[in-house]
Amino acid sequence: MNERITLNNDITMPALGFGVFQTPPAETAASVAEALRVGYRLIDTAAAYGNEREVGEAIRASDLDRSEVFIETKLWISDYGYEEALHGFDKSAGKLGVDTIDLLLLHQPLTSDFDKTIGAYKALETLLADGRVRSIGVSNFMPEVLERLLAATDVVPAVNQVEVHPFFSQSDVQKADAGHGILTQAWSPMGGITSYGGSDRSTFDDPVIGEIAAQHGKTPAQVMLRWHLQQGRSAIPKSVRPERITANFDVFDFELTDEELARIDALETGVRSGPDPDSITLASFARDIPEA
Ligand code: NDP
Repeated sequence: MNERITLNNDITMPALGFGVFQTPPAETAASVAEALRVGYRLIDTAAAYGNEREVGEAIRASDLDRSEVFIETKLWISDYGYEEALHGFDKSAGKLGVDTIDLLLLHQPLTSDFDKTIGAYKALETLLADGRVRSIGVSNFMPEVLERLLAATDVVPAVNQVEVHPFFSQSDVQKADAGHGILTQAWSPMGGITSYGGSDRSTFDDPVIGEIAAQHGKTPAQVMLRWHLQQGRSAIPKSVRPERITANFDVFDFELTDEELARIDALETGVRSGPDPDSITLASFARDIPEA
């Protein structure tokens, strides 16, 4: 049974969700449909992924009530600024085909243009007050940037979605989040980015994780997801393959020991595989988010 986590505004969400970054639009509806079929009830997409429409289609085509699925999406930096972000919400909600988004995040901090970041976050606060979103949060916010945001706004983010996998767990970020009652949600939770990102070593091939997996009769992916859940994080694994979508959700029938959790913690390399959040600028990462 998937566990639910209560956010700092008393909204609950499933701990384990399903991600669709890099899932081509043509494959998104089928993979989300498969995820819903096997039991996932949280879908994480983003305006910048270009597949919100297909996520919405799959949810509507399922026999689930809208209230049973927790929809999470993210505003892209090109839509930062107060008015722009309000319009960004309309674009995302329109493509998803929903009136309300369960969790809306700022995808990246725009540290080079922080006023726009603050403006966008204030728009999220307005959307929250108006009941258009049920919770709001951020992604890729490092502790210092988070402090700057908190100092300039009123609502503490419910979630900070950041790169966390056994090779890079950002314990400083997790600590800062926890100190403010913010849930850390792991992106690339199985370290997918260590495979497709071109690193020398992939988490999936790590011998320690492999050994622990063999001991439990589970896969490395399942062990990594269990590591997140037992440490209180939300995780949003992605796959387009039905057998992996199913297996990645089959993580509620075993427990890692404290020693096994510590062995996975010890795989920390201190090396980030994703982009440095400070390097995200409009000059290099702007992209037009189409209208709904
Ligand atoms: P994941 O850790 O989820 O790994 C996904 C990769 O691993 C894919 O290449 C997938 O390929 C493969 N894979 C999936 N399951 C298995 C398995 N059981 N065994 C072996 N390989 C497997 O990393 P992602 O980077 O995709 O992150 C997950 C989600 O996090 C994204 O979809 C997105 O929602 C979010 N995200 C957010 C970011 C942000 O900046 N906020 C940045 C990056 C991700 P295949 O599909 O072929 O199975």
